[in-house]
Amino acid sequence: MAHFDAYSRAINYLRVSVTDRCNLRCTYCMPPEGIPWMAHEQVMRFEEIALVVRAAAELGISRVRLTGGEPLVRAGIVDLVRILAGIPGVEDLSMTTNGVLLTRYARNLAEAGLDRVNISLDTLRPDRFAAMTRCGKVEEVLAGIAAAHDAGLEPVKVNSVVIRGQNDDDVVELARKTFEPGWHVRFIEWMPVGETAPEDDAWRHKVVTAEEMKRRIEGELGGLEPVDGTVGSGPARYYRLHNARGTIGFITPVSEHFCYHCNRLRLTADGQLRPCLLSDNEVDLRTPLREGANLEQLKSLILQAIEIKPLQHRLNEYGHPENRVMSQIGG
Ligand code: SAM
Ligand code: SF4
Repeated sequence: MAHFDAYSRAINYLRVSVTDRCNLRCTYCMPPEGIPWMAHEQVMRFEEIALVVRAAAELGISRVRLTGGEPLVRAGIVDLVRILAGIPGVEDLSMTTNGVLLTRYARNLAEAGLDRVNISLDTLRPDRFAAMTRCGKVEEVLAGIAAAHDAGLEPVKVNSVVIRGQNDDDVVELARKTFEPGWHVRFIEWMPVGETAPEDDAWRHKVVTAEEMKRRIEGELGGLEPVDGTVGSGPARYYRLHNARGTIGFITPVSEHFCYHCNRLRLTADGQLRPCLLSDNEVDLRTPLREGANLEQLKSLILQAIEIKPLQHRLNEYGHPENRVMSQIGG
């Protein structure tokens, strides 16, 4: 049975960042000069992550998503998946990945117990992809998406962050993929987080709202029909183009926040439990863990994090999180 926070929200979802490292350098996620990586000893060990997930599962957190940085660059990630998949109460184990290494890992991940993947892909154009990721090859991600399907990591969802002047005109081509090969695509409004966030109101100009994306897609591809919440229970609102097999979701943290339904906590790679993506408050789990905290003590720390979960983020009052960039939180 999930626990409720101070605003009667049932908390049943934990995102676990398994590393702050990444094999890409997306412009909206990391500053150009990169970030100093966490020292090896700062990063949560597998047995520590497993204990946190076990404690969370005993508190009714049944959905766990591995993220990063790039989760597939963490050595032994398949072993971690196997450990977490075996924890009683973990009913849905998923991963958010840039997809680059999926051709290598998809089958092993599925065999180890991973249920499904979300793959980040902001554009289909090779040159633009290389520019937005500062080094990536789009063919590798496309091959990764195919590998995820072959391995049965369904539903595979494709996540695209949309940024004005960078890829706002890509939404139509990505939406077209819902016809053939039938992708589920989710468009995410860009959020100003960490050092990548401009300091004044200029950031608003970069946000392409879901309304604007919808207008653009409908103008080219026809009307979007609302779909009931059958594709997921997260923050996206889903639609379908007429005769399309796949769906189109919109995630609107900026234009229409979904905080009143927020069901999640986040564990950073260095063991801090973060009740809100967009607020710098964190509860330290790593220190107590390394001082020998047992399962019951961990559970009470998780409950503390649930208690301090804010009602809503404060982006609209210039409340940008500043202590971490997105790659350190996990999205
Ligand atoms: N490396 C993996 C990936 O790219 O899927 C997992 C980590 S990444 C931080 C998780 C998600 O956060 C990705 O879908 C990414 O596009 C999204 N993201 C990163 N920075 C963002 C930002 N400033 N605004 C909105 N979404 C962002
Ligand atoms: Fe890496 Fe994912 Fe951030 Fe891109 S969005 S730099 S792939 S962590």
